[in-house]
Amino acid sequence: MNALGLSAWRLLADQSRPHWRLIAAGGALNLLGTAAALAQPLIAKQVIDSIGSGQVSAGPVLALAGLLLFSALAAGCGTYLLERVAAAVVRLARGRLITRIMRLRVDAVDRPGDLISRVTSDTTLLSSAASQAIVEPLGAALMLVGGIVLMAVLDLSLLGITVGILAAILAVTGLAMPRIARAQTGVQRSVGEITEALERALGAFRTVKASGMENAEIDRLETATRKAWEHSTGAAKWSALARVSSGLAIQVAFLVVLGAGAARVASGDLAVSSLVAFLLYLFNVGQPIATLVRSATEMQLGLTAVHRMREVAELPVEPEEQPGPAAEEPLYPQATAAFHQVSFGYGDRPVLREVSFTAAAGEVTAIVGESGTGKTTLFSLLERFYEPSSGLITLDGGDVRQWPLAELRRQIGYVEQDAPVLSGTLRENLCYAAPSVSAEELAEVLARTRLTEFVESLPDGLDTWIGHRGTTLSGGQRQRIAIARALLRRPRILLMDEATSQLDAANELALRQTMAALTRTTTVIMIAHRLSTVVDAHHIVVLEGGRVRTGGTHQDLLAKDGFYRELVGSQLVAS
Ligand code: ADP
Ligand code: MG
Repeated sequence: MNALGLSAWRLLADQSRPHWRLIAAGGALNLLGTAAALAQPLIAKQVIDSIGSGQVSAGPVLALAGLLLFSALAAGCGTYLLERVAAAVVRLARGRLITRIMRLRVDAVDRPGDLISRVTSDTTLLSSAASQAIVEPLGAALMLVGGIVLMAVLDLSLLGITVGILAAILAVTGLAMPRIARAQTGVQRSVGEITEALERALGAFRTVKASGMENAEIDRLETATRKAWEHSTGAAKWSALARVSSGLAIQVAFLVVLGAGAARVASGDLAVSSLVAFLLYLFNVGQPIATLVRSATEMQLGLTAVHRMREVAELPVEPEEQPGPAAEEPLYPQATAAFHQVSFGYGDRPVLREVSFTAAAGEVTAIVGESGTGKTTLFSLLERFYEPSSGLITLDGGDVRQWPLAELRRQIGYVEQDAPVLSGTLRENLCYAAPSVSAEELAEVLARTRLTEFVESLPDGLDTWIGHRGTTLSGGQRQRIAIARALLRRPRILLMDEATSQLDAANELALRQTMAALTRTTTVIMIAHRLSTVVDAHHIVVLEGGRVRTGGTHQDLLAKDGFYRELVGSQLVAS
């Protein structure tokens, strides 16, 4: 078995260990059932012998009936217990995968559809593999070994013929297994591609329609679908071959053993009852071989699934943290945020170069600069989505890396650039990060973000469903919802990334008043898009080419900086 197979087995073994009692009970029942089944041909032989000697008694017949009943019951109960273990293993694996995905760094999730398929489709494969690996082989192996031993007791030469024929099956199976595994990896990869392509198309459905790209998307999906089909037909071909060869081998073995055995019976060398018992064992052995072949196939599929699940474990995650009790005291009571000589790049491409500035406590700091200069990246670093390559970010003088991520982020409200909303109700969206907020507080924030009227106009009010990515909302409504969501967290620091770019004049004015009221308790950093926001700010940081060019108030900068004047003229929209 290769390294992949070993690691998959180790994973299964690790995850089944807590259920050892169930496994032991289920295994014991299965083994008992198999042992009872193994005894049946021997008793059948006795019955036949007693017919031959003319002394038929009810004993062996009753024993046979009892054994039949017992073996069916024991195998059934044993299988049930082991299936339960398999289901528990899959549940655990799914849970771990989901946890892992949620801990991924933001840049690791660049193919969400593919990740989705690993949780949904690959774990399903693991499920059948787990039940096949845990449940089936146990009884099958005992049946095989026990059957062969008893056949040896009955007649060695017939066993020789049987084993020779059965060995041929294993050879064909050995040939088919790696090919099935390869084809199945292809199927799973294609399912990932289908999910990914669908995610892409449905995630930007309006763009697809507006660009008239429906047919192109259909073609794209068709390519992935065809690949999946090609791989599954490949897998089907090889698993069919494995099954046909095992089925055929049993039948051929039966015919040959029947012929050779009959000749020996005729010459008085072998009892009829022994031949019958031997043939019964032959079929008893045939079944477990078929089962083991199927188990091996399913295991191969499971291994590819495990492999794809393990690949997720190699993606970069955020640092592990010990979830302590929620801090009573604010971590950074003043909430002064400062960048000290911070440099950062995505991959090899430098974006920020030695950026230093301070966002003073309880003030509004505005960040301006051309698009693509690294403004949003500043927020990503403050939220610790990424780590600076050099330099330090502090809150109240303390390195942000000293706090657990969740603690750090709990007190920061972040209104992202394109104001994302989640599919769900309006209430779910607003209270997403503050589920226990009171009705009064909610009403107050709605009023402050001028959402009250909008909510009242909706048929179901706060319980109105807003579609996937908020397709039923206007840009301005989405922005106000995102701002309200951030405010409901009662943040110490509020980060706003061009968060008012789509608001009309009246809404913007209201929001400026809200911000003015906030600043006594909250430090606000705004990536500014409008002249009006900049004019209000206590301090403005001008970014150029990833460096801080200069800083000051609007009046200062107008007076002293040509670049800023140009920016105000060309980029910042006056309103
Ligand atoms: P701004 O907000 O000032 O418009 P950003 O901070 O979003 O600029 O981006 C700065 C630069 O970094 C841009 O050139 C952008 O293409 C690049 N960039 C942004 N996000 C990523 C990312 N996740 N991976 C790689 N490059 C990125
Ligand atoms: Mg930006």
